[in-house]
Amino acid sequence: MKDLREYGLDELKMILSDLGLADFRAKQLFEWIHKKNIFTLEEAHNLGKETITKLRQAGYDLPQMSCLKALISKDGQTEKYLLQLSDGETIECVLMHYDGDFAKKRYSLCISSQVGCAMGCEFCATGKQGLTRQLTLGEILAQVYWVNRKLSKSNDRVGNIVFMGMGEPFHNYDNLIKSIHRLNDELGAGISQRRMTVSTCGLAPKIRAFADLELEVGLAISLHEVDNPSRSALMPINQTYPLEVLIQACQYYQEKTKKRLSFEYALASQVNVSKEKAMALSRYLQNLDCHINLIPINAVDERFQKPTKKEIYQFLHLLESNGLKVSIRQEKGGDIEGACGQLKSAYKGISNHEN
Ligand code: SAH
Ligand code: SF4
Repeated sequence: MKDLREYGLDELKMILSDLGLADFRAKQLFEWIHKKNIFTLEEAHNLGKETITKLRQAGYDLPQMSCLKALISKDGQTEKYLLQLSDGETIECVLMHYDGDFAKKRYSLCISSQVGCAMGCEFCATGKQGLTRQLTLGEILAQVYWVNRKLSKSNDRVGNIVFMGMGEPFHNYDNLIKSIHRLNDELGAGISQRRMTVSTCGLAPKIRAFADLELEVGLAISLHEVDNPSRSALMPINQTYPLEVLIQACQYYQEKTKKRLSFEYALASQVNVSKEKAMALSRYLQNLDCHINLIPINAVDERFQKPTKKEIYQFLHLLESNGLKVSIRQEKGGDIEGACGQLKSAYKGISNHEN
């Protein structure tokens, strides 16, 4: 089956014209898929039977994605969805609520870019799983559309997208870039690039390529360590792109885009919270316009334990006293394993089926 979510407006026009269908149908179809988030062609009720039949005969359709589980955190602010793809594989995405102006809720959606991940970071549940396969462009988009459809019942929609779910977005680079453009399209979801953030473990050449695109999208780098032997032990990618190569790519990104970078630093007791590490981190980042997010690590095994509050604040204050902008990542979804690094394809949870 050819996934209709994959095609831009011009491509849809060509497909429809090849099938002898009128040009204006392409815009209708595009809006039904990308703005109104239909999940079956029949829902596009003004499209006409002939259009649907001809598309199907030519092998075009909308692959199904269903929700196997929806878990809601105790505070009701975070929801995690286990979504099943058309070949039976599963991915997760996490919806976070914030209180915006005028008591209006704001929604940020953390989406996956791969089934599993090839990068093998030691502290990450997705990394432990290995890479099963890339997500298609249609599957990346469908996560947003599925959630938007759900939110539309309360007249809401996803406002922010973070590519921080399962997988390494820069390892599925072409589909990542296409999905950014498609989600940005005014005729579709219309999400501003400034409201999107991509998080990477540090694929330096892709950071440079991304910089060359000069998008408005934010970039977050998962750093977590301050010297090569320690970082390589945590994150195998560091053996290919060691810290100096990564930081140079970040400098290049900054020169090109003039945008502030974010660095993620997951704090684990007895691993990377010492004063020496804080000083080394400050030295590394001193020439970059950046913000550091400290994430108290979410334990996936006994090697990585959350530091004490005292350790966390000591680390934070040292960075601040060296002039860095730092915040502690508000913990969301820990009780439903929806927090950073806890996403994995199969899990035992509350059975709360929803479609
Ligand atoms: N692959 C990308 C994006 C997905 S991971 C990346 O690595 O950046 C999203 C974020 O969660 C990354 O910053 C990652 O380092 C962090 N993370 C992974 N496992 C974690 C854990 N157990 N506790 C806290 N953060 C974790
Ligand atoms: Fe992959 Fe990111 Fe997890 Fe590392 S932290 S294994 S790159 S998802």
